[in-house]
Parts: sequence; C-alpha cells; structure tokens
Amino acid sequence: MAKVLMFHRVLPEKQIIYPNAYSTFGTLISQEYFEIILSCLTDNGYQFVNVSELTKRKKNEKLVALTFDDGYSDNFDFALPILLKYNATATFFPVVNPCKDNTVLPLDIYYQCIDEMNLSETERTEYISGTAKHNFYWTVPDKQINVLNSLFKALPQNNRVSYMSVEQLIELSDKGFEIGSHGMTHSLLIAEYMNKEKVLNELQNSKQYLEEITGKPVISYCFPAGRYNAEMIELAKQVGYTSTCLVLRNINENEVLPSYERIFVQPNSLDELKSALGIE
Ligand SMILES: [Zn+2]
Repeated sequence: MAKVLMFHRVLPEKQIIYPNAYSTFGTLISQEYFEIILSCLTDNGYQFVNVSELTKRKKNEKLVALTFDDGYSDNFDFALPILLKYNATATFFPVVNPCKDNTVLPLDIYYQCIDEMNLSETERTEYISGTAKHNFYWTVPDKQINVLNSLFKALPQNNRVSYMSVEQLIELSDKGFEIGSHGMTHSLLIAEYMNKEKVLNELQNSKQYLEEITGKPVISYCFPAGRYNAEMIELAKQVGYTSTCLVLRNINENEVLPSYERIFVQPNSLDELKSALGIE
C-alpha cells in the first residue's frame, strides 16, 4: 500500500526562529530532519513516485509520494537539494496567487503577528489551534485582512516568508517534479462563503495557469486544509483532475477519483512516522 506524506515548509534548523507558529502547528520541519526522513525511506526500500503516478502502479509496490503544500520558497531552497541528493521525486501543490503575485497568504501574516507578540503559552495555543484560528481560517480570504486588523494592533512591515516564483515552479517542473494545484487563494472549498462558480474558479483557473507556465498537464489537486466532500471531488473530476490529495478521509463519502489520505509529517517525529509507515 503506497504512503503519501504531507509537508509544508522546510528550513535549516539554525534558520528557525522560535517561538514559531509553523513549528507549533506542525507545518515547518528542519532540513536536517527532512534528510533523515529521506534516508530512512531509502534504507527501507521505498520507491519515490509522484501523486499522479500512484494510480498506475501496483498495489503491492513499496511506494511513497512526498507532497508539499502551499508553495513556500523554502521548498525550492532547502527541500529541493535534499530531494536531488536522494534522487527522490515529489509533488508540489502551490497556491497560485501568492506565487504569481509575490505575496503571502493572510495566514502567514497571522502567524507572524502571533510570533512577534509576547504571548503566554495558553494564549499562543488559542491563537494557533483554538477558536481564534478557526474563525480566521473559515473567513473568506478577501476579508481575512480585516480580521487581522481587528485582532492585532499593527501588521508587520515585512513578511518573513515568501512563495516560490513562477520561474522556480517552472524549474521544478522541468526537473521532473510534479506540479499539482492547491487553488488560487487557498479558499476552503466547502466553506459557507463558497459557491459552485467560486469552486470552479479555484479548481479550473489554477489548473489552467499552472499548465500554461509549465507546459504540462496539471492533474492532481490538493484540497486546502484537507476540507472536501464528494461533490468537490466530482467537480475536480469534471475540470480534468485525475486524483486528489486529502488529509483525513471523510467516512461515507463517495469518491469518483482516487483520493489519498496523507501522513502529516510533524517536526522531529521519526518514531511516529516510522510507525505510520509500518517500519520497525
Ligand atoms: Zn494549504
């Protein structure tokens, strides 16, 4: 049974400044740890494949698909060299707008504000995984900046993260890595603020844009925050995707495309990862 691993950001340990909301939430791991994972997978006989290849391979093969959500530029700077060193392919799921426009997502500003404030552990936890985060996250992306302005006294002048440029996405594609789509704006497709037209915009426009820049078909789609339902998979199929990536599978959903649950790789959690992979 193939395994699909989910990553977001990768930075050399010495460049990770704490407190760090990404690390706390699990979406930032060190480059050193990333290399340990690839070494462990290689030693245990895993073959690296792209998400879109999974459907073409036999069930009994020992396959692993590495996936990177969102499209942070640290993927290019720090994950790519390790991938090349281990001759490992991967699938990248960039959010189109921040890559195209050289901007960041409101969530990045939210995390930066939290880390730059002097918060108690309880307050931090609330901001990172409590109601405040939930309410922010389920607000329409266009309005998230208003929420930021109401939550925080001042927003940072400079963003501490950046997204991959179009040139970098093209280079990844040219090197043989798969570029899938994670939408235009990171809108949660099943959120109340969405409608069919907006969902199709996210699915279709991102696909078209990424196909134009890479010159290759974009056939894997990754649901932002793993939020989906059967209808969204049906729409993904209608616009031409052939597989989707989830986080956790909803039970009792009828899937019309191969859809993969993924192992969320948290910082320094090799034992948990090994047990999820069934490695002794
Ligand atoms: Zn995402």
